[in-house]
Amino acid sequence: MSCLFCGIVAREIPATIVHETDRTLAFRDLNAQAPTHVLVIPKDHQPDAAALAEADPAYAGEVLAAAAAVARQEGLTGGYRLVLNTGDDAGQTVHHLHVHVLGGRPMGWPPG
Ligand code: AMP
Ligand code: ZN
Repeated sequence: MSCLFCGIVAREIPATIVHETDRTLAFRDLNAQAPTHVLVIPKDHQPDAAALAEADPAYAGEVLAAAAAVARQEGLTGGYRLVLNTGDDAGQTVHHLHVHVLGGRPMGWPPG
């Protein structure tokens, strides 16, 4: 299986890594949509959040905890947004679960 984010985990594809635990990795989005735009992923391949939550709920919690750690590390004291695009209608383009951590500017609602 060829997966872009598995390639980043394997250090075969370069990325700006900002946070790492034994089972999660966080790196800057190449096409940032906010002053802070970081992607947090499980190192093990899962296509989306539902799949990970079903396979290993504690692991899903670790991904969320890593996202919170990134927000803290990035100094997003005024708030931030976590986005988990799932499926085509949501515009998911990389089918390896990733949490977008977005912050550093006011976020509109509803999202587009
Ligand atoms: P999504 O549309 O939710 O699947 O988001 C995929 C995200 O991955 C997009 O925001 C892309 O800008 C980002 N992206 C794609 N390739 C890379 C890469 N090599 N390094 C970092 N971010 C990437
Ligand atoms: Zn993958």
